[in-house]
Amino acid sequence: MADQPTTSDGTPLHELKKQAPRSPDQIATDNPKSMRAAVNFKCWQCSNFQKIEVTLCTVTGCGLYPFRPWQRTKQDRSADGVQSGFDG
Ligand code: SF4
Repeated sequence: MADQPTTSDGTPLHELKKQAPRSPDQIATDNPKSMRAAVNFKCWQCSNFQKIEVTLCTVTGCGLYPFRPWQRTKQDRSADGVQSGFDG
């Protein structure tokens, strides 16, 4: 069996791939029937691939506006004592 590719510290590359955060397009591709993944991808694409721009979206006439992801900022969650969610 061939050696697996590794990083300089010996970590197998396939382990790094598992740990890496997936982008909304990867998540939508991996879950083609997920409405949430589709909306997240569309808003991310519409906002030039910047989650913060989705958070700041003001297009209230858009059909996806009520369902857009990352609506709450870190400051919003801190005020509520919630620690998880959008990190940038
Ligand atoms: S809700 Fe905003 S970010 Fe999402 S698709 Fe509509 S205009 Fe774009």
